[in-house]
Amino acid sequence: MLQTIFKTSFIKKTTQTIIKKFITTKMGDLGRSTVETIDTYYNNSEKFAAAFLLREPEVLSKEKAKEKEEVAFIENNTNKAIPFLLDRLEKQNIAFESVKYLIVTHIHLDHAGATSQLVRKLPNATVVAHPRAVPHLINPSKLIAGVTEIYGKENFEKLYGEILPIEKNRIKSVEDYETLQIGSRNLTFIHTRGHAKHHMCVYDSVSKGIFTGDSFGISYPLINKKCQNLSSILFPSTSPIDFEPDQALLSLDKIINTGASHAYLTHYGIWEDLQFGKKLMTRNINKLNDILLKAKKLKLKGEKLLEFCQKEVDNFFIEILAQEKIVDDKEAWERLYFDRTLNAEGIAFCAEFR
Ligand SMILES: [Zn+2]
Repeated sequence: MLQTIFKTSFIKKTTQTIIKKFITTKMGDLGRSTVETIDTYYNNSEKFAAAFLLREPEVLSKEKAKEKEEVAFIENNTNKAIPFLLDRLEKQNIAFESVKYLIVTHIHLDHAGATSQLVRKLPNATVVAHPRAVPHLINPSKLIAGVTEIYGKENFEKLYGEILPIEKNRIKSVEDYETLQIGSRNLTFIHTRGHAKHHMCVYDSVSKGIFTGDSFGISYPLINKKCQNLSSILFPSTSPIDFEPDQALLSLDKIINTGASHAYLTHYGIWEDLQFGKKLMTRNINKLNDILLKAKKLKLKGEKLLEFCQKEVDNFFIEILAQEKIVDDKEAWERLYFDRTLNAEGIAFCAEFR
């Protein structure tokens, strides 16, 4: 008798667990399906930089299909990406008026370079950004001058097009852990220094994912499919001028502590295992910090310093590729060209001026 009762309650419990698991998986799937990854074809390359479109679960499940949907973009890449973003709206029958927020994780131009043109095309959109990013959105002259210095005027226009000032009343500045509601989702903004002082991540209550910009590293599908050991490479971006290794490590904890189930990397796509990601990032932030400390000790300046950093950063990449048995791979090496160069420049800048 006791055995039968035990058996029935066991079966009941197991069935309940299975049903519960099924429901949460379904809900999780639905949550995830509200986030669309848009390839911006940055630098004419596939899966190099993403933008994300956040949609309403009710609309997708067709229960409230007639209700007006409010959507948001997170990241927008450069002006070259505008057709890809607007095409996605048209394809999904979303009116331009329905875009409520244009969220940018930080103002680097591969993340926020299209903001000023998009805000002129999307009449109801409010730009959401870190408080330190806001002055540069209102008056982009310093940002343009900084980037022009690196790339030259002609190249700047070719790469980024025209960047205009944005009216103050179209911008919302968000504090650390501030939340905003859009439709049925809550978005929580988490300030994450380390890559840039004006960087924030966005936790999304519906997909249970976190949009990490450049705070949880870079991982290219083109390289990952070549991996033979851990199946993924994840590395930090130390691009000029704000690399702060200690802050970068703290930001990893802030990201994990949201309880997010996965990360949306701008470069590129979904990263599933946050603990594993943290392990790889911690190791690689420390390695790049070692290069910075070495560079500081040598007290080199200018070209000589940059040369030293470039050699060390290249060796860092050769090493992480070799761990995955990727050796003398021209395609992988070329894909990393931007990051190799920018990481070396960022470390050299910190060594000389901070
Ligand atoms: Zn970036």
